[in-house]
This record gives sequence, C-alpha cells and structure tokens, in this order.
Amino acid sequence: MILDILFPDRCINCSRIINADQLVCNLCFKQIHFIHFDYFDENSVKEKCRLLFPVENSFALMQFEEEDLSRKIIHELKYKKRKKIGKIIAGWTAERLDFKDQKPDLLVSVPLHPKKLKERGYNQLHLFTETLSEHYQIPFDHELFKRNHYSKAQALKDKKHRLKTENTFSITQNISGKHILLIDDVFTTGNTLAAIAWEILKSGNNKVSILVMAVDL
Ligand SMILES: [Zn+2]
Repeated sequence: MILDILFPDRCINCSRIINADQLVCNLCFKQIHFIHFDYFDENSVKEKCRLLFPVENSFALMQFEEEDLSRKIIHELKYKKRKKIGKIIAGWTAERLDFKDQKPDLLVSVPLHPKKLKERGYNQLHLFTETLSEHYQIPFDHELFKRNHYSKAQALKDKKHRLKTENTFSITQNISGKHILLIDDVFTTGNTLAAIAWEILKSGNNKVSILVMAVDL
C-alpha cells in the first residue's frame, strides 16, 4: 500500500524502519532485558507473591527499570492506543515460557477499572492473553472478574479507603478445581494480583500461578 511506503513502521526506540510485525529494530531488540525465570523454579516474583498469597508458579518476561526499553514498550501498549503490541509481547513470551505437562486450565487477566477502560478504549492485556490462549491452547475468560467501582459516597471518604476500594474485585461465577494463570503487565507491589488471587482461592479448591510482562526487581 502506498501509505506503508509513505509511513513505514518505525522502531519505538530509535526510529529505524522496521517490518510491520516488529516493534523495535534488531539492534534495539538486543537491549531488552529479558529475564530467564524458570516458571517452575524459585524466582523473585514467586518470593514476593508468597508473602501475599499462596502461589504455584510464576513467570516474568522482562525487567522493568527506569530508562529501560521495557518501560517504553509497556508505555506504548498502555497509553499510545497500540493494543496490537500485546500480540508481539505474547510472541516473545511464547518463545520463552514452557508449561511442560503442567498447563494451567484458564487464563485470566487483571480487569481495568470501568472508568479507565472508557478512557483507554481497550484493556491492554486482552490481546496478549488471547494470543497466548491460542498458542498454548488454554481457554481465557475476560468476564470472570469485575473491578469494583467506588460510589460517590465512598469517594468522599478518605483517600486511603478509596484506594482500598479501587483494588477490590468480585468474581462473577464460582469456580473450583481449576489452576488459573493470572496475567498482568507490570509486577510492582503485587497487591492487585493478590486481591484477585484471594478471590480465586476463596471461590473453591483452586490454584493460582502468575504471568507478568515485566517486573520491577
Ligand atoms: Zn531501534
């Protein structure tokens, strides 16, 4: 197409021309700090999670640092209306994560606050989750959790209470006997993942594993 010639895709880091299925050029790709966590082994995400809730396994794709390329990548995905990036990141994940014979039963990503969803227009985790679902042949459920929105009355209360309310989720149907892989973009405190994990664990005899695009180590 003529537009592709006039406006080719460019590397988000250095602006070199790249193929349409790329996000960064080959040189910049080498600068991404992929972390080679073994999903089944001890790793820092698992250690952090364990302080908050019982976790089975965990995987993080990239290191999330100040001035890091991973920060730029996640920023493009979340704030630049480039939801297709989720598919590319899922491809990088699929090349590095092997569930062996212990595939989780269901993929569930962190839901957005309805207000944020309206602002952004998309949940940045959906295409990522759907691409992984197709690759690993594991079903996904985008409707299993709802993020609770705070009422006006609650919003008037102190900020601490409001933050707490924003971080609550409700499960829309009871589940039991499932191993659920919880998906988020960046792991920082782990509080959001913990809030959802506890809902899953309270719902029935379930197990929870974690997959994040990046971790702030
Ligand atoms: Zn580049």
